[in-house]
Amino acid sequence: MARRKLIAGNWKMNLTASEGAKLIADLKAACDGSCKCDCAPEVLVCPPFTTIAAVLEAVKGTPIEVGAQNVHWAENGAYTGEISAKMLVELGVSHVIIGHSERRQYFGETDETVNQRVKAALAAGLKVVLCIGETLTEREKGVTNAIIEKQVRWDLADVSAEQLDNIVLAYEPVWAIGTGKTATNEQAQEVHAFIRELLGKMYCPKCAEAVRILYGGSMKPANAAGLLAQPDIDGGLIGGAALKAADFMALIQAAKA
Ligand code: PEP
Repeated sequence: MARRKLIAGNWKMNLTASEGAKLIADLKAACDGSCKCDCAPEVLVCPPFTTIAAVLEAVKGTPIEVGAQNVHWAENGAYTGEISAKMLVELGVSHVIIGHSERRQYFGETDETVNQRVKAALAAGLKVVLCIGETLTEREKGVTNAIIEKQVRWDLADVSAEQLDNIVLAYEPVWAIGTGKTATNEQAQEVHAFIRELLGKMYCPKCAEAVRILYGGSMKPANAAGLLAQPDIDGGLIGGAALKAADFMALIQAAKA
């Protein structure tokens, strides 16, 4: 089954509203109409909450979609500093990243809270980019698959096969994020195939075949082609290289069928 590739940029805590709009303008200029062809990948950018409105305005008339970088599970209430799914939907956001390793590492996210966020986002009609991945210590201990399995099972607990249509997984080895170290094509493919097989057991083989699994971790123009050529790698979640129009455009080109 042919899965359309997805190139997603995670801007993290970078770019003000005007800088974000400028990046979109540069992408539009570099795109030159070719982004709309059938063979083009789906393109998503995930700016900080405060710049989403400006970026949504800037992408008008383009196929670029806009997502958020996190969401709270409650509909509303006394959760200072948090943003609900309903707020994102009303803004016009289509996707939300959940469970990024920086959230897990620096802000105490657990598989339990990730699962709560996933369920709230899906219930509100958002598409979810669910991040999973092992640390360097875990890889060195040889427990990568066990960690991935634990995360996938927990994070997707109570998520139905129908809801799986609105989930994209992002395998992001923590040791490769923002470090310049990329998983080799083989290392990445091995884990992606493991995730797909696991989804096949949790749901059904056909459902697993339809799910897109992105690779994330220092993906850049120089290594993208090899990674994107792997049979179970369906695109990229990109940090650093998503902040430069020329690099992000090169990744979009690399993902063309
Ligand atoms: C990320 O933040 O999801 C990421 C993959 O970052 P980078 O591309 O900078 O490693």
